Amino acid sequence: MEKVKRNILLNPGPATTTDSVKYAQVVPDICPREIEFGELMRSISHDLTAIVGNPEDYVTILFGGSGTAAVESMLTSVVGNNGKVLIINNGAYGKRQTQIADAFGLDYVEFNSSPLEPIDFDLLEKEISKYQDTLTHISMVHHETTSGLLNDISAVGSLCKKYGLKLIADTVSSYAGIPMDMRESNISFMASTSNKNIQGMAGICFVIANRSDLEELKSKPVSNFYLNLYKQYEYFEKTGQTRFTPPVQTMYALRQAIDEALEEGIDKRYERYTACWKILISGLEDIGLKYHVALENQSHLITTIQEPESEGYTFSDLHDYMIKKDFTIYPGKVGELNTFRIANIGDIQPEEMERFVDYLSEYMDRLD
Ligand SMILES: *Cc1c(COP(=O)(O)O)cnc(C)c1O
Repeated sequence: MEKVKRNILLNPGPATTTDSVKYAQVVPDICPREIEFGELMRSISHDLTAIVGNPEDYVTILFGGSGTAAVESMLTSVVGNNGKVLIINNGAYGKRQTQIADAFGLDYVEFNSSPLEPIDFDLLEKEISKYQDTLTHISMVHHETTSGLLNDISAVGSLCKKYGLKLIADTVSSYAGIPMDMRESNISFMASTSNKNIQGMAGICFVIANRSDLEELKSKPVSNFYLNLYKQYEYFEKTGQTRFTPPVQTMYALRQAIDEALEEGIDKRYERYTACWKILISGLEDIGLKYHVALENQSHLITTIQEPESEGYTFSDLHDYMIKKDFTIYPGKVGELNTFRIANIGDIQPEEMERFVDYLSEYMDRLD
């Protein structure tokens, strides 16, 4: 297997992949309605579920699409036309949920919270109790990729239990990177994608659902078509096929990525990500660059960094400096703060993070 040129993506997804995942896409042409391909998808669905729950009680529904498609599928299929959802918004991805809700005319209440500070659960509970007669769901982002803030999903899950609500979670940037358990956290539906912590190629998104909560959607009035979660589930259970053409080659890459994730183990993957993050954090402290979220509230997967004030600095200058060294970095404003973001997800080793920190230090020295 010839080595593919190595680019290290420090953007928050798509993440860096192994060569074996890249090469897994090169397979004989196959019609996705063949039984063999159905078996591949069943194994993928089963193993994606098993990462966060018991496949007897939970099930993964696959779609062709980016992560946002899975979030859109959940909100439109689960809240539907007769539910009312409280959306926790503490960053760009929380806001995106309100945009989806607006686009489909869903009945929702928005709960705003700082993108840099933990959720105030007393305030959240007050808001829930205000609407408790009509509210059916809470929707949240587990890891707010905007800032690297990790929201306490189990605490929201407990509130859902107390008020008889179902929890919907965008776990796009936490799934398979941070160990989770859907039952323990009382999550009914969660969404993710093939190209973040599971370390596959972009193109597949999925919703993992509690089976009995999913069955309740059977007769729910909804306004969607391609992204109809129940129909996609029902059709796949019956036929072993997706309703519409899946990204065939991406599916083979995802199979390989899952094998590699299981081989590494999600706990170990989180440890590797954390080791990379620690190198980054101590590098930033040495260089004198500021990060915004308190360490104990960070995900260890993404860090929001204050842009340097130094003359001559622009984000695009730093980006171009890094890309010549095969590192890709990503901009990202948080509110009024001028920041950029470093994600340390994907197939990245601590030695590579050390190299990145050295380059960053070199770059900053050049500015002074
Ligand atoms: C990446 C991401 C998404 C999905 O983004 P796409 O570009 O649609 O794949 C959704 N939510 C969060 C929290 C994310 O990090």
